[in-house]
Amino acid sequence: MSDCIFCGIVAGSIPSKQVYEDEEMIAFHDLYPAAPVHVLIIPKKHIPSMLAVTEEDYVLMGRMTKVIQSLAQELGIAESGFRVVNNCGEEGGQTVGHLHYHILGGRSLGWPPG
Ligand code: 5GP
Ligand code: ZN
Repeated sequence: MSDCIFCGIVAGSIPSKQVYEDEEMIAFHDLYPAAPVHVLIIPKKHIPSMLAVTEEDYVLMGRMTKVIQSLAQELGIAESGFRVVNNCGEEGGQTVGHLHYHILGGRSLGWPPG
């Protein structure tokens, strides 16, 4: 999608501090970190939200889970604990219409979320 910020990051036309890339996904630091560690992981494919995931994305979604595990180790938050968040839709707080998981850690995170 030409007007999608995250597609721009995938294409390299919008700069980002990337921490991971493979054929299917990338991970990069959030521009406005909400915790000492705040990384976003996204599929390269433009999937508008969690609601738009289809059966053809099942393998991709599973692989993202494995990459999240590795990133938690590499980012030094696996032992202390971390949170994986997907905001979906207006009341879910989604502001970018390209599927992404937030990986948050490096401090004690409150619950329930605001
Ligand atoms: P959402 O609110 O949709 O769950 O998450 C979108 C996230 O993208 C926000 O945490 C926001 O700070 C981050 N973000 C928005 N624009 C950019 C950008 O251009 N670069 C990076 N690295 N993060 C962005
Ligand atoms: Zn996109």
